[in-house]
Amino acid sequence: MNEEVRVRFAPSPTGNLHIGGAHTALFNWLWARHTGGKFVLRIEDSDRERSTKEFEESIYLGLRWLGLLWDEGPEVGGPHGPYRQSERLDIYHNYAEKLLNDGLAYREGEAIIFRVIPGEVVSFDDIVYGHIEVKSETLKDIVLIKSDGMPTYNYAVVIDDFTMGITHVIRGEDHIANTPKQILLYKAFGWDIPQFAHLPMILGKDKKKLSKRHGATNVLEYKDMGFLPEALFNFLSLLGWSPGNDREIFFIQEAIEWFDIKDVNKRAAVFDMDKLRHINQEHIKLMDPQSRLEAVKPFWKALGLPFEQHDPQYLAKVLEIMEGRGQTLRELAEYTDYFLTFEPVKARVDREYVETSKDILRPFCEEMIKLPQWDTKTLEEFARRWSEERQVPLKKIAMPLRILLTGTKVSPGIFEVIELLGPEETKKRLAYWEIL
Ligand code: GLU
Repeated sequence: MNEEVRVRFAPSPTGNLHIGGAHTALFNWLWARHTGGKFVLRIEDSDRERSTKEFEESIYLGLRWLGLLWDEGPEVGGPHGPYRQSERLDIYHNYAEKLLNDGLAYREGEAIIFRVIPGEVVSFDDIVYGHIEVKSETLKDIVLIKSDGMPTYNYAVVIDDFTMGITHVIRGEDHIANTPKQILLYKAFGWDIPQFAHLPMILGKDKKKLSKRHGATNVLEYKDMGFLPEALFNFLSLLGWSPGNDREIFFIQEAIEWFDIKDVNKRAAVFDMDKLRHINQEHIKLMDPQSRLEAVKPFWKALGLPFEQHDPQYLAKVLEIMEGRGQTLRELAEYTDYFLTFEPVKARVDREYVETSKDILRPFCEEMIKLPQWDTKTLEEFARRWSEERQVPLKKIAMPLRILLTGTKVSPGIFEVIELLGPEETKKRLAYWEIL
């Protein structure tokens, strides 16, 4: 029988959505979308001291930014709620009473503890890690409810996964050791055991467990650094999975089509920032001009660049001729600052450099500014002719011209830049340097 796939992401709101959490959420989401199932969000806030509303909100923001929208959970509701553990305490107590009544658990003070019977082999077939078994005598009795009345993780997760009808538990490999305990509880209740798929660990480039030392771990920091959600999605999906055929750049829709939880690899995956930057760059290139423009605007704004003073067509053109340059939206915004205002150019150019370039540039610019047509082709042809006639190598003109107009040594073709700046702005800039 094809039962509907129901998966869940169960973060504890004791921190922001970090890369590891996003990775787990994403694989759950992909499996739900691929199978037409449901993706449930559950907030595991039973640690009342460390859980905060701010972190909860920040997790929602991170998930929504990545496009990992949940079908059931806080803020959207659903038939298996409430979806916050702190609102399910009576459910945990009722089920614990049942185990007490069946003689499978005992009280110790206010706490309720499950008795592990020795001599049993607890085993499961993990979709990713394969067959795993442990002897029950290696497991201690399992605290279900602590003396403060709060459920423990291993207990609450079983009650929730069962009552929410979860079919596949997809989570980080750090939970493998918890799984046999959870299975003992399923068996004690006489419930069907869901399928387990533990996801590979994510390592930094030094092969140590990913941590702050390796760079940003909060997903929303990637947003601020100028990564596109579809690029981070693409990158995260490749940590432990691959669509095959050496495909490295793909869209979310394609990942949904190709993803299969059975293809996940248990080998630890390395978080390679250079690869993420490369993937981001490719996704920036794949955007349509309008979306790219909208995506860059907040970064111009953050840099204090007056993009509102220019018409959208000009701005889209600016980004178009930058094609391929800039691996993040922030870099793209930085690299195009001179198109938006002359100010940063003034700050970057050294007066002395201007003095040494004046003599060679002046005669060239005086003629250039009189050209009847102002397009890249005309400008280039003029420059080539001029350099031939005067026996001056073209780059002796092009480089100082680039530096004085853009304040940088790397830009798109200088005549493309000049076309876009237009005769008036070009003249203004050259006049500032007293070349015209
Ligand atoms: N709240 C647990 C965590 O964040 C959930 C683990 C699970 O998915 O079972 O690690």
